[in-house]
Amino acid sequence: MGECLFVCAGVSSNSGLPTQKLKNILLSAANIGASKSAKKKYKTFLDELKPKLFIMDSGGYQLLLEVEKVKKSISSTNSKSNNNLLIRVVKNLNLSPKKIIELAVEFHPNIMIGLDFPVGKYSSPSEQKNEFCRKIGFNIDWALEIDSLRKKYCLNIQYFLPIQAYTLEQFYWFWHYVKGVEIDGVSLPTRNMSVETLVQFLLAFHHVGVRKVHILGTSRFDYFAVGAYFAKNYFNWLSIDGTSWSANARYGSYMNPHDLKNEYLGKEAVLNESYQIDCRCPWCRYYDFPAIQSLVYTEKSRFLGSHNFWITNRCLENLYNNAGDLHSFYRYIRQEFRDQSVADEIYFSLLKADGKRH
Ligand SMILES: [Zn+2]
Repeated sequence: MGECLFVCAGVSSNSGLPTQKLKNILLSAANIGASKSAKKKYKTFLDELKPKLFIMDSGGYQLLLEVEKVKKSISSTNSKSNNNLLIRVVKNLNLSPKKIIELAVEFHPNIMIGLDFPVGKYSSPSEQKNEFCRKIGFNIDWALEIDSLRKKYCLNIQYFLPIQAYTLEQFYWFWHYVKGVEIDGVSLPTRNMSVETLVQFLLAFHHVGVRKVHILGTSRFDYFAVGAYFAKNYFNWLSIDGTSWSANARYGSYMNPHDLKNEYLGKEAVLNESYQIDCRCPWCRYYDFPAIQSLVYTEKSRFLGSHNFWITNRCLENLYNNAGDLHSFYRYIRQEFRDQSVADEIYFSLLKADGKRH
């Protein structure tokens, strides 16, 4: 039975925080290390916040965005020289394993996620294979380099290896080349993968001996359910970071306390009068939907941010508390999640995983 945590991401200053104590935070190295003034700002922010858990993500996602902007094609061969080229063509970003380690030494995160070159959103298997091949050289080199630098400078900081693969075959392929790297856990982007694929990846991690996993950037109920089950039954640690609580609040969306789906409460939304608030958060106590809808923008986004953040944490916590036995977990998911076919998919995928566990 491991720990299961929701980690707040996407905040950079006190003004963007939820109105409650923030224990777990994820910040990106690309943001922290963007400039001298950014470093100063984040240092003050962390000093004031004093989080219990601070995860430093590498900023690989920002790297992907920058690279896609300059539209350079990168060959998978000769990755060392392309590595340099890549950093040069990306004018606004200067990420490297050395930079990541420097920032880790300076900021002392509890966990650092290694530098990766994310694979983009492609749906056909042949495009995915090409994209995977374009990136694997970088991802192997960077994993090895961070490993050796970490051993030299900051062995006390936990190292989670990012996994950039569309399929299990690609994961094992990558894993083979990073065998000697000493890691504490892995991190996984979900990229809208199916529930079944997520379960298969988590099971594969378990099979190769991984006991700590971070799932990157999601607030989906189905992923939460899978993560909570694995935290309870397979791993020592599973954390998930997300920004949806805040982004949804800014767009006027109230996250449903049962399945985290959005209920839009913008001024022009037509409310269903039969739909009553049944949330137990401290903010919903004194409100109904028309009252929330009529709030002015700043008040509404603060209200929604507080509610959304609270229920995102509670949702993962409740799933974890109910995840001990698969059959009763299934009953719980069916009761909370309006999409019964997804509830079935979660159940059958986990049932299959339990059958292949050993
Ligand atoms: Zn609420």
